[in-house]
Amino acid sequence: MNQVQHGRVIFSFFGPPGSGKGTVAQQCREELDIKVLSTGDLCRKHVAMGTRFGKMLDQYLRAGQLIPDELITEMVQDWLLQETTATSTIILDGFPRTAKQAEMFLSFLKKHPEPSSFAVVFFSISDEEIVRRLSNRLVCSNKDCQAVYSLSGKRSVRENQCDICGSPLVRRADDREDVIRERLKLYPNYRENLLAYYKQAAVVIKDFPVADLTAKQVFGRFVSIINSK
Ligand code: AMP
Repeated sequence: MNQVQHGRVIFSFFGPPGSGKGTVAQQCREELDIKVLSTGDLCRKHVAMGTRFGKMLDQYLRAGQLIPDELITEMVQDWLLQETTATSTIILDGFPRTAKQAEMFLSFLKKHPEPSSFAVVFFSISDEEIVRRLSNRLVCSNKDCQAVYSLSGKRSVRENQCDICGSPLVRRADDREDVIRERLKLYPNYRENLLAYYKQAAVVIKDFPVADLTAKQVFGRFVSIINSK
């Protein structure tokens, strides 16, 4: 991989639930040592730990609704300041998700003393494939791990046990069909607003169609994007 030494490179993974963002991010973390923040994982961790944030977030997660923009953006900015260095390559999995989040976050980056380049990787896939994938998804129940598996794709070596930490695998509470449909209903609206904002702000967007590709192929394609930066 070409190591970029002149500032942070931030990739925002954007796409519908179930498009494989988390799986690629996980591979990047394990195989390329890239820093990853999944905002969904962060929210679930707060809920599992019963923090003050977690108590506020729980109702939104259960209903498949988005967390208020100011709250989620502040959580991401705090993480970035604490966990990354000036030359880190970073993946934000699932953030920004609305035009307002993108606007607040890009203005934060501009004010930040370290230069950062920002590009969006836009995952696309059909609704039928999403419902099929999410109905087959299992995740590690350990809040610090949350590795993703699939009954129809990447299975764990031992049935219902995480390969990384050995904890039991579970279904996510929001992977029920009615909640999946609610999440999908919201998606086109915020997608269009976000893409319109990015266009106006001249942000680089890499189209990333993932239907019919295996997790390994998706990972390979993302590595080529990193190497072209
Ligand atoms: P995910 O794991 O990406 O499917 O996210 C799970 C849930 O976390 C979402 O349904 C939202 O409730 C919340 N969430 C994650 N990222 C964001 C974000 N950028 N903006 C608002 N809510 C978010």
